[in-house]
Amino acid sequence: MKSLNRRKFLQYCSSLAAVMGLEATAIPSLYKAVAQMAKGRAPVLWLQGQSCSGCSVSLLNSIDPGPAQILTNYLSLGFHSTLSASSGHMSMEIINSMIEEGGFLLVIEGSIPARMPMACVVGGEPFTDQVSRAAKKAKAVIAYGTCASFGGIPASENNPTGACGVAEYLKSAGISTPVISLPGCPAHPDWLVGSLLYTLRFGLPKLDEFNRPVMFFGKLLHDQCPRFADYEREKFATTFSDEGCLFRLGCMGPNTHTDCTLRLWNTRTNSCIKAGAPCIGCTMPNFSAKASFPFYRKRELLNPPVKEG
Ligand code: SF4
Ligand code: SF4
Repeated sequence: MKSLNRRKFLQYCSSLAAVMGLEATAIPSLYKAVAQMAKGRAPVLWLQGQSCSGCSVSLLNSIDPGPAQILTNYLSLGFHSTLSASSGHMSMEIINSMIEEGGFLLVIEGSIPARMPMACVVGGEPFTDQVSRAAKKAKAVIAYGTCASFGGIPASENNPTGACGVAEYLKSAGISTPVISLPGCPAHPDWLVGSLLYTLRFGLPKLDEFNRPVMFFGKLLHDQCPRFADYEREKFATTFSDEGCLFRLGCMGPNTHTDCTLRLWNTRTNSCIKAGAPCIGCTMPNFSAKASFPFYRKRELLNPPVKEG
């Protein structure tokens, strides 16, 4: 992995500050926050529960200089189940000594099997217990991705493990450490790096009712959509390759709070809607919760249910 020079890093901080809605005067502050983290004053512990690892992959699939480089070169990332070279007993020793010391920022990827603790066991310890131990000693907890934020796909209808998000689990366990939820399936790397930097430099960001930072999730996708003018003119796409608003193809943009169309994905080149795919609301608390999730609205439009009687 390439190392970052100061100029490149300042460039990254300025683009991050812009998408966080911060003034240019905040850029040196962000720089300082990262320098502080690099000195090991703000260790990050990353624990992973019921997940597909897609959020870790999203984090690694980043720009130059990107969040992965920021995390590995500038943050004191004590443990990460995909990035760390350690395994087995050595991993458990690192995790346990970090927990004992406390004062870290805890990132959790994946949902918590609240009703079936043995469904996810790390080093012989149920993940539920490990999360409780770590959260009690953390400065703040960041739930990264929809599974960690709201339960996500593991919490879909039937939900045999009683999967839930971190905020819900900690509340039920009586643990009051603040939680920042960063949903998305997967979540955008900027949301994580931005939240870590903001928390370290300025304290907890302003959160909405679902613990999501308002700076990233404060607005509806629909209101920031490049196809909004088409919606207003009622120019609707009828197939995925069409120009026009994707509403009639099942787009969930009018119900979804996120900044995907402004921030863009994959080296800031594209987003679902820009690529002609309707938003499926992956940052929303009800994403994938029901088998009737509107993912399938297109099919329903093409084959309307036959009314009985
Ligand atoms: S494509 Fe979706 S988000 Fe964009 S204007 Fe149409 S309904 Fe709204
Ligand atoms: S546009 Fe919608 S479905 Fe696509 S990543 Fe953003 S919130 Fe998720």
